[in-house]
Amino acid sequence: MESSTVDSGVKWKLDLLNASFLTGTPILAVVGMIWYTMTYGVTWKEPTILFVMYWATGLSITAGYHRLFSHRTHTAAWPLRLFYAIFAAGAYQNSAIKWCSDHRRHHLKVDTDVDPYSVTRGFFWAHMGWVMVQEGEEVVEKVEDLQADPILAWQARNIFKIGFVSGIIFPGFLGLWLLGGWVGFMGGLIWGGFLRLVLVHHGTFLINSGAHYWGSQPYSTKNTSRDFSPLSLVTFGEGYHNFHHTFQADYRNGHRWFHWDPSKWWITLFSIIGMTKALHKVPQWTIQSARMKTTFEKKEKALVEGAALTNFKKRSNDCSKRLRSALRDLANGRSDLATAKALSDNERKTLLKGTIKQSKQRVKDTWSEFNQLMSEMRTSKEITA
Ligand SMILES: [Zn+2]
Ligand SMILES: [Zn+2]
Repeated sequence: MESSTVDSGVKWKLDLLNASFLTGTPILAVVGMIWYTMTYGVTWKEPTILFVMYWATGLSITAGYHRLFSHRTHTAAWPLRLFYAIFAAGAYQNSAIKWCSDHRRHHLKVDTDVDPYSVTRGFFWAHMGWVMVQEGEEVVEKVEDLQADPILAWQARNIFKIGFVSGIIFPGFLGLWLLGGWVGFMGGLIWGGFLRLVLVHHGTFLINSGAHYWGSQPYSTKNTSRDFSPLSLVTFGEGYHNFHHTFQADYRNGHRWFHWDPSKWWITLFSIIGMTKALHKVPQWTIQSARMKTTFEKKEKALVEGAALTNFKKRSNDCSKRLRSALRDLANGRSDLATAKALSDNERKTLLKGTIKQSKQRVKDTWSEFNQLMSEMRTSKEITA
């Protein structure tokens, strides 16, 4: 292939294997699906195979490659790590070691030239362009912890063989078992193999492109990451990407109970039977004060510099301080109440319930005071403008 240069002056050439794979598989999937449907028709079984395989390989990327291996947000027993290693290989996104090396660099150097899928180089680059070209030497770094895991070392040595078995042959056998005969095998291969592969690919790619492009930035404006909840529907909860970039050590991406985050539920479920442990949660006081601070900073940027600004800043900082303290008291009150319940200490229970109620009210009051401050700042902008 001819070498070319991009704006940054870095030499690159087309990665023929990756580029043909990423353009070939969607064609194969669509043509195959149309041919199969027109020839044999579709029952509920083909979409079921698609769903099961989407879930096994997709979740192995989000809960496994991403939250467990890249960010160490919790620990997992070996059968679960083996499951992730086998089925994530079937998602054809490289070995855990390579994936996590890229991803850790993405967080560390986000939006710079060293970020492997920096959105500052365009939507298409962040989505899949970066996979289709080679720039300089392949870098695998800062993954010594993963290289020491025998399961992941084995996976890296045999990545294509494992991927071929779990991502192509296995859905074929699911088809053989559910639908019967070689037609069943073809059905499983097309729906659970190729079509599923393409869907999981683009689901993952959309986090690197779409979740750095669309949506809101409630927790930080320091980088391009954004919360775009619709993306969570197809990526097992990864759409809360602004939260994730701000608090990458948290095993949740959607931190509220109603946030659609199946990876979080999956990890929590396995903690009940002791197969996942040390689930790390960033405390509410840190999350909410980051949200308050970011709201203030956005408003501040929109304002013209003036004498009032110092006063606004002081009041915002004051709100933030009081919010943190109220949320801390609330968390302490809740854990003390759990102890009191266990000791069936009724007097203390009543006392603590009162404190919890008060702390909740303090959180509410602080937020409404802060919102009042935000509306005053708008008025001030109108006046200055
Ligand atoms: Zn991440
Ligand atoms: Zn990102």
